[in-house]
Amino acid sequence: MKIATIKTPDQVIIPLQQHAGAVCNSLVSVGDIVSAGQLIGDGESRIHSSVSGEVTAVSELPHPTGKNVPSVVINIHEGAEKEIEPEELSTGKLRHIIREAGIIEPNGLSTLRTKAEIDTIIINGTNTDDLSSNAALMLDYPAEIVYSLKALMELVGAKKAFIVIELNSEALQVMRTETIPDRNIKVIATPMYYPPGTEDVLVKNVAKKKVPRGSTPEDRGVLVSSIAAMKAIYDAVHGIPMIKKVITVAGAVGSPRNVLVDIGTPIGHVIEECGGCNGTPAKIIVNGAISGTAQYTDQVPVIKTTTGILVQTEKDVNREPPAPCINCAWCVDACPIGLMPHLLYGYADSAEFDRCADLYIDDCIECGLCAYICPSKLPIVQMIRYGKHGIAEAEMEDLS
Ligand code: SF4
Ligand code: SF4
Repeated sequence: MKIATIKTPDQVIIPLQQHAGAVCNSLVSVGDIVSAGQLIGDGESRIHSSVSGEVTAVSELPHPTGKNVPSVVINIHEGAEKEIEPEELSTGKLRHIIREAGIIEPNGLSTLRTKAEIDTIIINGTNTDDLSSNAALMLDYPAEIVYSLKALMELVGAKKAFIVIELNSEALQVMRTETIPDRNIKVIATPMYYPPGTEDVLVKNVAKKKVPRGSTPEDRGVLVSSIAAMKAIYDAVHGIPMIKKVITVAGAVGSPRNVLVDIGTPIGHVIEECGGCNGTPAKIIVNGAISGTAQYTDQVPVIKTTTGILVQTEKDVNREPPAPCINCAWCVDACPIGLMPHLLYGYADSAEFDRCADLYIDDCIECGLCAYICPSKLPIVQMIRYGKHGIAEAEMEDLS
């Protein structure tokens, strides 16, 4: 499974918020000429230009999460060299390099989000149902991934690490072979299950530690990271900030595959580069069929947290209208975190955000199992996202 490269688009749209946290400040203005790798946004994270070209706009534009976010639009200069011009990324300590390179996890958290003592690192190498970019990265870059993992272990003082991979994945043997000399790194095979990325479950199953509600794995001495972050750390050590992402393009496209994409590339361009849509697209979903977000425009860009694009035609889409909640509690049984999705839905719907917070809405990992199982076809995840957004807005207001 080779990762394919695609043609760079004529224009990229780079949102100044690609992480969990406040929007970064723009460091560029309309008319500025930027180089690939140049820092263009700073704040809680760092954002770099993925291309060389001219800034043509800094304005609020559609974002894969469904809201509008301040973004930098860059028109690529014809014939412009896509040379990386790192800003001190190859020197200094790894912690500084990771921070400077703007490396974040697929869930939007910073890879180095803690200064707590860490004894174990878990790398989640599992894939969701329709996305396979983790496996593709491990097959194409096994040595780079292990290099970064060892560097990260040294940085945080972890004595052991685990790479978790599905039983039937081609990457399992490759990574086992790659880690044979390292007695502190173990590759663990896990059966396919959904959702695969639940940090608390990984910590419980792999590190044998329970994470109490309100705590994080880091509080228990465990750092959970990703295959994508390992590749990004390798790139950063070699002077390249997080400006590219490997994503899976699946569903009704001419050539479904894993592709390396410049951050900021509109998803419509990515789909075209994968052979275009087979038929009329009815839904384009970013980040997986169950937990992803359906897009209303194909002009939203690929960002650091994008893991895949799924294209569906009318025959793939279930258009049953939602009905009222019947309190069957199927969603409660399905929730891997032990939340009460039907109550979160109701409270978010009536803008009772305090009650959502009391019911730990922020612990929701947006896996989509509750919505998948709901006989009333309620858009529970969208409503939970709305509830989280409402809480964040209220917190911002309290701060100002
Ligand atoms: S599964 Fe749907 S209908 Fe049943 S309790 Fe949950 S939200 Fe209500
Ligand atoms: S999306 Fe639904 S099932 Fe998944 S964690 Fe959130 S509330 Fe639970």
